[in-house]
Amino acid sequence: MTEFERRPTARKVGQVKEVTSLSNPIIKDIKGLMNKKDREESGTFMAEGLKLVIDAIELGWEIRTLVYAKAAKGKPLVEQVAAKTVARGGLVLEVSEKVLSSVTRRDNPQMVVGIFEQRWQRLDGLALAADQTFVALDRVRDPGNLGTIIRTADAAGASGVVLVGDCTDPFSIETVRATMGSVFAVPLYRASVSEFLAWSRASGGQVVATHLAGAVDYRTINYKAKPTILLMGNEQSGLPDELARAADRLARIPQQGRADSLNLAIASAVMLFEARRHLLSLEAK
Ligand code: SAM
Repeated sequence: MTEFERRPTARKVGQVKEVTSLSNPIIKDIKGLMNKKDREESGTFMAEGLKLVIDAIELGWEIRTLVYAKAAKGKPLVEQVAAKTVARGGLVLEVSEKVLSSVTRRDNPQMVVGIFEQRWQRLDGLALAADQTFVALDRVRDPGNLGTIIRTADAAGASGVVLVGDCTDPFSIETVRATMGSVFAVPLYRASVSEFLAWSRASGGQVVATHLAGAVDYRTINYKAKPTILLMGNEQSGLPDELARAADRLARIPQQGRADSLNLAIASAVMLFEARRHLLSLEAK
């Protein structure tokens, strides 16, 4: 029996608030989370889907508000997640489908939405262990790319994603959707270029930067030599010279055909799985 199954329901303790009006002030605040400014001010973000909300709570993320559709009322898992939210001091809202659609801006919304506290890790002073791989993204702009990279980093067993410079928000609804829940599993860091450079020099790792003009075939790099920080460039302009110069290796993924580059998320996946493959084969020996 999981911790979820042992909990009493929130309804039994009468702490579910019913909301049908789109102009309800709490609903207005939740809708505001579509804006980065509101997310930053409140330090929260929205995630959709019952399984995802349950997983996030089990991973220890703080839930501030649980919103569920009237149609989900009485479903055991929904009742249990509601009880858990109340037990943690959160608010539970039972809403009409119209309200849920307006909150998520979707015609067929998920039955359950959670509002969670954002979580950033401290890069300062973080030393890398031998089996760790990090991905650092220079000014990633596209939420779909960022979400896909977080999801891929999770699947490849990376230890974190570092956002360098002015990046798209990992807690936007588009990015969170694209992570498919991995936003709750992969530690996120943010840094200016100078903070990133200072950290990478002190971290004990090697920076393998990817560049279309990279001198080294990515398959020839020794990813076991040191823990690896894979540094990926911006979608439009690639890596700036300041970051490229600071890399230990400048790697190229050889291409054929007419495409001049790979999509950023695809290039990140190729690099992540190559680096992790080397490390895992080390462990198997
Ligand atoms: N026009 C950009 C340029 O000149 O670099 C293209 C950027 S590409 C869409 C985004 C990032 O993906 C690059 O900065 C690099 O980090 C990585 N990338 C894409 N294709 C690559 C390749 N064939 N070799 C190495 N890195 C690649």
